[in-house]
Amino acid sequence: MTLYQEDTIVALATANGVGAIGVIRLSGPQAITIANSVFKGKDLTKQVSHTIHFGNVVDGDVILDEVLMSIFVGPRSYTRENVVEISCHGSNYIIESIIKLLIKRGARAAKAGEFTMRAFLNGQLDLSQAEAVADLIAANSKASQQAAMQQLRGGFSNQLAALREQLVNFASLIELELDFSEEDVEFANRDQLRQLVINIENVVSKLIQSFELGNAIKQGVNTVIAGRPNAGKSTLLNALLNEDRAIVSHIAGTTRDTIEEVLNINGINFRLIDTAGIREATDTVEQIGVAKTMEKISQTAILLYVYDALELSVVDLQADIAELVKPGIPAIIVANKTDLLDDVYTLDLPLPKGTDLVQISAKEKQHIDELKQLIYTKTVKGQLSADETLITNIRHLEALQRTQDALIRVLDGIGSQTTSDFLAMDIKQGLHYLGEITGAVSTDDLLDNIFSKFCIGK
Ligand code: GDP
Repeated sequence: MTLYQEDTIVALATANGVGAIGVIRLSGPQAITIANSVFKGKDLTKQVSHTIHFGNVVDGDVILDEVLMSIFVGPRSYTRENVVEISCHGSNYIIESIIKLLIKRGARAAKAGEFTMRAFLNGQLDLSQAEAVADLIAANSKASQQAAMQQLRGGFSNQLAALREQLVNFASLIELELDFSEEDVEFANRDQLRQLVINIENVVSKLIQSFELGNAIKQGVNTVIAGRPNAGKSTLLNALLNEDRAIVSHIAGTTRDTIEEVLNINGINFRLIDTAGIREATDTVEQIGVAKTMEKISQTAILLYVYDALELSVVDLQADIAELVKPGIPAIIVANKTDLLDDVYTLDLPLPKGTDLVQISAKEKQHIDELKQLIYTKTVKGQLSADETLITNIRHLEALQRTQDALIRVLDGIGSQTTSDFLAMDIKQGLHYLGEITGAVSTDDLLDNIFSKFCIGK
């Protein structure tokens, strides 16, 4: 196997800062010999792959640290090159001294994402899998971790690679027609081609649609809490988060700016956005707050409208709902302060489609769990299945959209009986954009752009 890179790179693989241990990673043809040149213990060049060795890192006569050397002989390693991982004590001074020493012995400081870039260049991962590594490292919830794992296992790329192959077959048939253009023959059956393109377009469009949920899982689902001043929005926010973070006060309209907190429900992160009260804006600061609230509502994945079940009249409630609840944005109408009611609360009001009513007491923390589950059900549940492929990456989304455009041009072309050369061009473009996702088609710019977003050592 020919490996892409000739030099050996080194970087700290664990997080910066003091820890119990730090792991320094070397990768490249000289990884084992360089590690061996600073190691007092067994001869590392004579050890078999996937073994760990205890000893000292020495700079001449000076012992820098007691370490464990883990040996991975290529191609059985993350990068497919020789890799050594040095587990040392996690002091910045020790780590820096060891890295400096390794550089003195011939290694080079790794650039951001360079280990994963090598894994890609050496055929260990395809591009979307490499990006999944970055997502996995950044994953902050169970769901975002699962989406990244699914992508890392190649579910997403396999699907696209299979599609691409089918299209390649047709592209070659069409190319063949170009060679026989004088004779006016059709090797590629247009009905079959149309059917194939429709099938591919269906899958591509499903992947495009999955971005909304995929992105929400990665970034957190926006959840706006709105309502009149004193309805209990801040109290509810605290009850949901189970700690006193936002300022709660008796003076109406104290929560002037929007506040974001993250709440985890069933493994999904929800970004709770508390907003300024929506009514009775008397001063300028308040007016700006209200405008912001309306803007946030227009962009949210779900709206929690909170009102004081004791104080607010049905007429006012109806006016608020008409103003705030937008078609297409799921909403929960939250009747708050039900602890103050003597009787069972009933609301005789037809609610807009996609809207539910929940009765709670934010202060007494009653029915908060019920509200949480409803938030989850209305946004995520049903859309999320374990093995479904979710697009979480804006680069993939753009490539899929371009693929889709090209496929639609192919369909139009077949419909209007366009000549083979135009069809061939559009099919080629579709192939190109599909290939950009998995890395079958890649340019240096694209690679730099992707890998520079990694941290050093990854
Ligand atoms: P906001 O202006 O909508 O953020 O309202 P706050 O959360 O600041 O609450 C306004 C007042 O209502 C505070 O005095 C809260 O203690 C009170 N409050 C909030 N929720 C409840 C509740 O469920 N029951 C009762 N009894 N009081 C509540």
